[in-house]
Amino acid sequence: MYKSFLIKYGEIAIKGKNRYLFEEALVRQIRYALEPVEGEFAVRRLQGRIYVDALGTYDYDEVTEALSRVFGIVGICPVVLTEDEGFDALVKDVCAYMQKVYPDKNKTFKVHARRARKNYPMDSMELNAALGEKLLSAFPNLKVDVHHPDILLCVEIREKINIYSVEIPGPGGMPVGTNGRAMLLLSGGIDSPVAGYMTAKRGVAIDAVYFHAPPYTSERAKQKVVDLAAVISRYTGKIRLHVVNFTDIQLMIYEQCPHAELTIIMRRYMMRIAEQFAVSDDCLGLITGESIGQVASQTMQSLAATNAVCTMPVYRPLIGFDKKEIIDVSEKIGAYETSILPFEDCCTIFVAKHPVTKPSLRVIERSEQKLAGKIEELIQTAVETAELICVAAGGEA
Ligand code: ATP
Ligand code: MG
Repeated sequence: MYKSFLIKYGEIAIKGKNRYLFEEALVRQIRYALEPVEGEFAVRRLQGRIYVDALGTYDYDEVTEALSRVFGIVGICPVVLTEDEGFDALVKDVCAYMQKVYPDKNKTFKVHARRARKNYPMDSMELNAALGEKLLSAFPNLKVDVHHPDILLCVEIREKINIYSVEIPGPGGMPVGTNGRAMLLLSGGIDSPVAGYMTAKRGVAIDAVYFHAPPYTSERAKQKVVDLAAVISRYTGKIRLHVVNFTDIQLMIYEQCPHAELTIIMRRYMMRIAEQFAVSDDCLGLITGESIGQVASQTMQSLAATNAVCTMPVYRPLIGFDKKEIIDVSEKIGAYETSILPFEDCCTIFVAKHPVTKPSLRVIERSEQKLAGKIEELIQTAVETAELICVAAGGEA
């Protein structure tokens, strides 16, 4: 029955010139989210509002689900738009709306009229009273409750008249693209996809880098990461995923450095390489799925040692999250089932039985000295031979 959706967005953050950029990005992300949805849609801005119009048949649930993945949207209101043909016609439209949307009339309601077009002959107070009265006589089971109504019936007099009462919550946040770009270190685990999701929620566009170690890690492990990138790209928009062959670097570390330090040293090389891709992709920071104390490589000392090689800010949006809280988000965004598939990660293969939990930066740097003069070339090769996969919501693009 609905041909249009009224998109509500948080307006606090968008004063002045930013408003235009915010709305442009929001429209772009809405179009992106609707691309894989069957049907044809138009997204338009009109007088400080955004509408999605269905131009033919469509699946209601599919559309609202797609829209509820667009950061920046606070609410999605299926709306009936009618022409202004006088008050009697409006009463008919409003009654028809109530009849269709609420087959059971044993409910309380309140009319919330808004006269955005000042040449309308009745003001909002008059409209509230007059429409309320007409509804009560048309549907005797309805009752008015001005404080906590079951139905808040919004009637907005604009160019067209907007009638709506249902608001499906959106994810909040800011539209992707309004806050720069960052490089996500994406592994096949549970945490890093969630970290990417959370950063994108604040309007940050995401690129990603994945380190694999063939033949120690399989093609399936890589596919799993591509699949995870596809899951988060439903929220973040297109992701440029750099797949780096890390085998030779890992083997060199494994042969030359104390095994207790493997994970930290490996992580430092990951950060260094990720930063190179970040620079060439115009990123303003790195993102990881680290959380304090989760594993040996995420103690405060380990994080400090890893962080020491970075010149860009490193964003760790899960830093204060317990695993359970991370899993909850992972499930909510549809990543969990893929994340728990049992394919080996490059870190788990070269992992020590007793890793250091309180590495000293000085000691780590000394161990890395053994690689100096040899590892630079391996890094350059790894960067140059990286595979670039562009992942988008509708599949690989
Ligand atoms: P995740 O669930 O994200 O894999 P984790 O709990 O397994 O995290 P670690 O393996 O210690 O934790 O990795 C910490 C972070 O380092 C990850 O969240 C990710 O950002 C990055 N990382 C680890 N392994 C890789 C990899 N193979 N490729 C890219 N990034 C990685
Ligand atoms: Mg991992």
